Parts: sequence; structure tokens; C-alpha cells
Amino acid sequence: MSDLVRLSAAELASALAAGDVSSVEVTRAHLDRIGAVDSAVHAFLHVDPVGALAQAAAADARRADDDDFPELLGVPVAVKDILTTKGLPTTAGSRILDGWAPPYDATVVTRLRKGGQPILGKTNMDEFAMGSSTEHSAFGPSHNPWDLDRIPGGSGGGSAAAVSAFEAPLAIGTDTGGSIRQPGAVTGTVGVKPTYGGVSRYGLIALASSLDQAGPVARTVLDAALLHDVIGGHDPLDSTSIDTQWPSMAAAARAGDVAGLRVGVVKELGGEGYQVGVQARFEETLTLLVDAGAELVEVSCPHFELALAAYYLILPSEASSNLAKFDAMRYGMRVAPEGVALPSAEEVMRATREAGFGDEVKRRIILGTFALSSGYYDAYYGQAQKVRTLISRDFEAAFAQADVLVSPTAPTTAFRIGEKVDDPLAMYLNDIATIPANLAGVPGMSLPSGLAREDGLPTGFQILAPALQDARLYAVGAALEAMLVDRWGGPLLDMAPELTVED
Ligand code: GLN
Repeated sequence: MSDLVRLSAAELASALAAGDVSSVEVTRAHLDRIGAVDSAVHAFLHVDPVGALAQAAAADARRADDDDFPELLGVPVAVKDILTTKGLPTTAGSRILDGWAPPYDATVVTRLRKGGQPILGKTNMDEFAMGSSTEHSAFGPSHNPWDLDRIPGGSGGGSAAAVSAFEAPLAIGTDTGGSIRQPGAVTGTVGVKPTYGGVSRYGLIALASSLDQAGPVARTVLDAALLHDVIGGHDPLDSTSIDTQWPSMAAAARAGDVAGLRVGVVKELGGEGYQVGVQARFEETLTLLVDAGAELVEVSCPHFELALAAYYLILPSEASSNLAKFDAMRYGMRVAPEGVALPSAEEVMRATREAGFGDEVKRRIILGTFALSSGYYDAYYGQAQKVRTLISRDFEAAFAQADVLVSPTAPTTAFRIGEKVDDPLAMYLNDIATIPANLAGVPGMSLPSGLAREDGLPTGFQILAPALQDARLYAVGAALEAMLVDRWGGPLLDMAPELTVED
């Protein structure tokens, strides 16, 4: 494996700035790595070597011409296949969009292009971001580089697998209920869900519009911060985008500190139901924080216990409406019903949705349609929205006592492929600790907290901050990461087994 793919994005940026290496060389090294390992990892649904190398050459030319360029100029990135990319396939992991090449770029993608970051390709995901393992992808699962028989989390397992397998230094994920943070936890990477409205949703194929948020996936907190600075900020094309001047996340990461920090340990997230090794690493990480001068406060968020139930009413309701646009008329697939000479539009629509959507998508459309139907709306959807308000109030009360809240990110380490795929409720439980942040719109980060003793697999530590305080996540996360790297004698991913594939 080329040493270039082992460098962090910040290290690549310095090497590029010093003229030690070109973006073409860096991009080629990652494409070679993808060529060598992706048949085993399956992080990518589509790789774009020609486009990426052309963008790399343009980045090198820009650097030669100009003194003022973005810090990540020339550093390649992988993009979850739920963000539209002009002329490049975008499937959202679904058959129904197979073969579709969007006519426009998502704002996140536009910003990556403006920043001169070559796009290596599009990463695998659960269909329409519904899932926690990538097993609901219509194109087959991704594999966890720590153990190829295990899941890399979901829905953004492809982005997390690409970064943890050194196929990309950075990736974009999206998080509706945990799809950036939980894959981060189970692959030993850093993932951040920004404040709702902090990163534009324009061009993000909607799952649940009031919960969806794109964010960075990286191997270090600083790298995530640098990428956040590129993709974040107000966008007039997204009416829910927050119009404010955000501080530099990278500056916050570089100034990271935890002395005097009040850390709220959420009583309801952790303990019973959490794997012993996950809980143990969580508690050990708390000790590191205390040793560095932070103060622990136990906080209670009693309504978090209702979060999963509320989420699985609100998400399917919004999804059933958002997915109505896949009607065989406008995008992708169109299936003619068998044995019907002159099918009506409705018959084509039915046949297409039957063939184009997978089981999990159909399950949620049915659930959402039911929850929104007249007669049941108040009992289900209306009730879930009230729970959502109570969860926001729990956050407000907790943040009155603490600067950040913490918990394990996911209740277990990576499970085996096939273990939970036929048990929707077991799959849904993976997000028990991540969902409250989406319901309230607050930002959250997962960073690697070590390996669980019983299976030697990565565990994740979640940090939550009040809305708009994303920079605080980076300040705390970077300081904590330094202590954890010290504790483990190096970055966690250095301990991952080398993938046994041709190099
Ligand atoms: N796993 C959760 C779900 O299935 C979260 C998905 C997401 O964040 N996109 O809904």
C-alpha cells in the first residue's frame, strides 16, 4: 500500500502545500488502493477515475497559478451516493434510480468542486439511507475492514468503510438517525452530524427532511473539521439552511481543550443493553476526561426512552411522502406490468415501485402512510411530534447543567453480516443513542474510543452539543482524541488488520 493513503487529510494538505507531492499522485494512490481492496470491501458503487484525475490535475494547476487556495485543495474525497453529482450515477442504493445521472450537483458537491477536491466516486449505502448495516443496499453490502464478515454500519457504511480501508482520506455521509455516527463507531472513524441546517440539503435525496443532515467522515477530528468548513454554511437553495456566520471548525479543533468542561453523562444512554466492552471503553474515556480537568455531571433525559418509537413514526411518515416522487415518470426505472397491453400510468407506477423498491423501503412506506392516514394521524404522527418536543426540552434542561453530553455511540460493536437483516427491530436498536440528536436538531460527533475487549472491534464515543455549537464538538473531540491516541499508543486504525488483498 502506498504511504500516501495512510496520511490524514491535514497531512496530505501540508505535503501538497510544500510541493512534496501532487494531487494527481495523491488521487492516483487512492484510486490504486480502491482497485486493490474494493472488490473485498465494496465501499463504492461507482468509481470515477477519469473525473477524479482531471480534477486533481486542475487542482495542481490552480496551486501553481495562485497563492490563495483552500487548505484541502487537491485532497480527494468520496461522496455518499445519496448526494446528486452532475453526470455521475446517483442511486441512493436503490434499483429504482439505477442508471440515473442527475442534471445538477448537490450544494455539498458544488462546494467540494469549488474547493478543488477530486471526487473519487460514490459510496454504498442502505437503500434511501434506511438501515444500520448497508445490507439494505440494492447492490449488496459493504464490508467492515476490521473483519470482512461484519457490517461497516449504516446507512453510510460505504463512506465509513472507504475511509477506514484507506481508500479515501475523507468522505461525505448523511445522518437522519445516526448514519454518520454509528458507521463511525463500528469502523473506528470520526463522523459528525452537524446542527440541522448547518450543511445544505440541496441535492441530498430526501429520506426524512426534518431529520436529514450531511456531514464529514474522516480518520481524525481535525480532518472532519476541515471538511466541515468546506461543506458547511448558509445556502439560499435550502430554505432550512441557517443564515449565520459559523466559526472555523478547524480552528476549534486546533485549539482543543477540555479543562473546566462540564461533561453530562446521559443516564438513559448506556448501561443495560449495551455490550460490556463498549460500556467499558466509554467509562474509561470518561476517566481520561476527568484526568484532563473536566467535570462529570450525571444528567437525566427521561424522554429519550421514547425517541426510537417517535423516530419510527416521524421518519416513515416523511419518507412515504418524499418517496412518492419515484413514480416511473420522472427518474430512473420504468417497468411495464406483465400481460397488460396498454397499461395506465397507475399500473406502470405500481409495477415500477414493486420492482424498484426493496423490502425495508416498502415496510417504511406502508408504516408512514398508515401513520399519516386520517383517523390515525393524531394517535401516531401527532403524538410522535409531541414526544419530539419533549426530547428537545430534555436537551435544553441537560445543556443547562453541562457543556456537552456524552454516551456510547452505538450499543454494540460491528455485528456479522446476516445477523440482524431479517429482524427490523434489532436493526432499529442500533440507533438508540444517536436518534435523539436528530429529533432535536443538535450536532453530534462519534470518535473511536478503543477496542472492545471481548471481540477486539472498535467502539465509539458520542459527544453532543447544543444547536449551533458544532465548534465545541471539535474542540472537545480533538482534545479527547489526543488523549485516546496516547492511551492506545497510536491511532486506532493503525491496529486494524491489513486487508489480505493484492496491493
Ligand atoms: N439506521 C437509521 C434508520 O434506519 C438511521 C438512518 C440514517 O441516519 N439515514 O433510519
